[in-house]
Amino acid sequence: MCPKCNGTGWIYYTENGYEFGRKCDCWDKMVASRRLKFAELPEAFKDVKLSNFNLSIYRTIESRNLIAVAAKTVTHYLENFEAMKSNGMGLYLFSNTKGSGKTRMAVGIANSLLKNHQVKFAGSTTIIKEIKRTWNKKLSEVGETESQLLDSLAAVEILIIDDFGTETPAGWINDKFYQIINDRYVGRKVTIFTSNAALDRLNYDDRITNRIKERTYQIAFPEESVRDYIAEKNNQELINNLKQNITEGKTNGI
Ligand SMILES: [Zn+2]
Repeated sequence: MCPKCNGTGWIYYTENGYEFGRKCDCWDKMVASRRLKFAELPEAFKDVKLSNFNLSIYRTIESRNLIAVAAKTVTHYLENFEAMKSNGMGLYLFSNTKGSGKTRMAVGIANSLLKNHQVKFAGSTTIIKEIKRTWNKKLSEVGETESQLLDSLAAVEILIIDDFGTETPAGWINDKFYQIINDRYVGRKVTIFTSNAALDRLNYDDRITNRIKERTYQIAFPEESVRDYIAEKNNQELINNLKQNITEGKTNGI
């Protein structure tokens, strides 16, 4: 809760015997929080922690070297987060290969920042869908306008945009993302991206990539999918548990 206004969003003061109220600095963040319900970190991700991030699941030496550097950079970033935040510095996690661990890393970062900060997390295609939704008044639950939604995306303290660049950047999509990213740039807000494209290969125009280049540390991820490995491991654990249950069943004479 905001200590300045006790979470009310208003600060009251007396001047010449009259009482006045003004909006607290946290007001925009509060409004953004209410509007960006779609950008809550999914429940399934609540337990993903950076400390559980297993670097040894990558097979090649090249991958292991890359992920070691990535993990070190992220650790350094988080240890110095207050300085990063005051400079509006974010991260850009990228690799062409899907399932290389970018999103899991971003979720781990989100969970560690959530304790002390406002963090919103959304896929870029979800953001586009939400923008389109505001065009249709009937579908828009809270009756918000497109510019209110864009303002909220700009006001959030920390915004994580997952899978940036997978969408086809039609003219208007390019413009909307420019507005969000530029507003955040001007306000020195931290934005963290995951992407399947290196920044110079991103399908967006230079205005966007230049802003991102200036305000993020670009971190290369291995060109190796660990998704299958993780699924395999989960399956193996399930099988082991079943086997164990069967064995225990037998010894119990069932
Ligand atoms: Zn406040």
